[in-house]
Amino acid sequence: MEKKNIREVSPEEMAAFLSVNGEKVFRAKQIEEWIWQKGVQDFEEMTNLPKSSRELLKATYYFDKLLPDCIQTASDGTTKTAWLLNDGNRIESVLIPGNEKYTVCVSSQAGCQLGCRFCATGTLGFKRNLTVGEIVDQVFHARKEAECSSSSLSNIVFMGMGEPLLNYDHVLSAIQRITSEKGLGMSPSRITVSTAGIPAKIRQLADDRVRFNLAVSLHSAKENVRSQLMPVNRAYPLAELAASLIYFVEKTGTRPTFEYLLLHHINDSLEDARALADYCKQFPVKINIIEYNPVEGSEFRHSPDKQRDAFVQFLENRNMVVHIRKSKGKDIDAACGQLANKRKD
Ligand code: SF4
Repeated sequence: MEKKNIREVSPEEMAAFLSVNGEKVFRAKQIEEWIWQKGVQDFEEMTNLPKSSRELLKATYYFDKLLPDCIQTASDGTTKTAWLLNDGNRIESVLIPGNEKYTVCVSSQAGCQLGCRFCATGTLGFKRNLTVGEIVDQVFHARKEAECSSSSLSNIVFMGMGEPLLNYDHVLSAIQRITSEKGLGMSPSRITVSTAGIPAKIRQLADDRVRFNLAVSLHSAKENVRSQLMPVNRAYPLAELAASLIYFVEKTGTRPTFEYLLLHHINDSLEDARALADYCKQFPVKINIIEYNPVEGSEFRHSPDKQRDAFVQFLENRNMVVHIRKSKGKDIDAACGQLANKRKD
């Protein structure tokens, strides 16, 4: 009999399975706690189950584990881990130290189909969606790492490999596990999901009344520039994206964030700032300006500090909320848009 992924088994299915096999049904709750609260990945660690139950589980189910493949630590303490998945695909997550606490940047897909021009992951193409277990495991591992440094994990951002909203069900189920009292019990306000801008899915988030933060990779408020940087804009132009954000704000009462990677001579002029300010008039929004890390062989250039300051000043003069995000992990390619496992062998 082919084994099943235990993290894809509902509590009801588990209870039925235990009952059919003459085991106590209340053990389903214990198993659930071991998996989603304590994060164990080995049936032997479920120490309050009798040996017979553990053997039965082992014979029927498996864990879709992440195996650390390569770990790199940057001079600023940022750690990038490349994980090997059960089927040989690879993903990455990044643990970023902050003021006393840590943020983890997690992947939602192996590869990505959206092909943003500034993004290394986009060049890999799409492999597959991650399972709920594979997403939550990145968080479990990050939490353990933070605790090893006598700290804690405070924030989770879905800004690693993949477009989270194209793996909608698994990402939302993972967040449900992360925020549930029966899971990791983290606050949804500590979670940010970042999308390239899929309007139908943004509306779905609004209808689902999500309580986590939404970030949109905008990178330009000019149609032609955005389409060149992000091919997804050809399918879902700026007006359609704006309409979905208006709907999102109306339904959830929360203000999304725009991520704006500043690229010299591409989107960093005052004219670009004006287009951005005009676009943002339609809904309340915060703006994160992200500085580009020049990568070897890249067609893009870092925007000079003077240009960046003028850009930000222009927006602030229009009363916009703007933060400049310094990239972390520069020396290990762990910064935004640079996740792509280089060991593809
Ligand atoms: Fe995909 Fe995000 Fe990279 Fe765009 S930036 S190609 S959406 S991983």
